[in-house]
Amino acid sequence: AKEQGRRGFRFFEMAMNANVHQQLKLQQDLRRAIECQEFTLHYQPKLVSPDGPVTGVEALLRWNKPGEGLVPPDQFLPVAERTGLIVPIGNWVIDEACRQMGAWRDAGRGDWTVAVNVSTAQLNHAGMVDTLRGALERHGIEARHLTLEVTESTAMRDAEASLAILNQVAALGVGISIDDFGTGYSSLLYLKQLPADELKIDRGFVTELACGNDDEAIVAAIIALGKTLGLKIVAEGVETVEQQELLTRLGCNALQGYLLGVPVPAAELERTLRTSAA
Ligand code: C2E
Ligand code: CA
Ligand code: CA
Ligand code: CA
Repeated sequence: AKEQGRRGFRFFEMAMNANVHQQLKLQQDLRRAIECQEFTLHYQPKLVSPDGPVTGVEALLRWNKPGEGLVPPDQFLPVAERTGLIVPIGNWVIDEACRQMGAWRDAGRGDWTVAVNVSTAQLNHAGMVDTLRGALERHGIEARHLTLEVTESTAMRDAEASLAILNQVAALGVGISIDDFGTGYSSLLYLKQLPADELKIDRGFVTELACGNDDEAIVAAIIALGKTLGLKIVAEGVETVEQQELLTRLGCNALQGYLLGVPVPAAELERTLRTSAA
């Protein structure tokens, strides 16, 4: 039994080493990806209704890894956050989204807002406000054309510091959206203090909708709360017509999800919009 235990431990140790090795490799690859500009942004529209106007687009990060194709963010963001590499990566995302917004504005899409996702390590980094100001100036973008999507848990972690930074972001005129709403543990008192403009109902609630359970009541309550706080309500992860109709009836201001449009490169988004407008 003792022998077996030792062997079991050996396996565990080998698995651990492989894991550590993998993480180091990923870290190395990420550094190279920053230098070689292997990142790209896909954009997913926020629409009033399936054939209604686009109110904004959300930028979603993709890693075009040589020999492997597009890597989704869930596979590298945790390591990027732990190692601080999220700061240079996030700075690139903000700059690129502003550059693209400038191109859209010049093409007559001046009514759009581009949203970028920001994680905890980024928000609480000292240079955040300067990064935003720099990107806006560099590309000649009005602050109201940019929104930061901050998850409820990001805003809650180190709540005092986050609030101070978010207040500076809001003072710049950049919009603030509370992402994944309903999955964190924000107190109403804290929510009330956040200088937010928009609330995004987490996909988890939307997925369960129209199945005759409690989620409709929860979503209705979230919408009522958001409206009381003066926020625009966006539902994410809308995949079916039933969900879309119910969310519209419950009073959502905008919808996002595969039903209305999947995340695509900027050029492709323009093509699909041109076709559907025709
Ligand atoms: P998120 O901000 O909640 O973004 C929504 C995610 O749901 C995206 O996954 C999107 O592709 C996916 N999605 C959109 N519509 C639907 C739908 O109808 N059904 C389903 N099943 N999924 C849908 P993605 O692009 O893999 O991004 C995952 C997460 O990674 C994002 O969640 C966000 O938290 C984070 N992320 C993405 N880009 C960035 C970035 O530039 N910086 C940072 N810090 N985080 C990012
Ligand atoms: Ca988001
Ligand atoms: Ca979300
Ligand atoms: Ca999410």
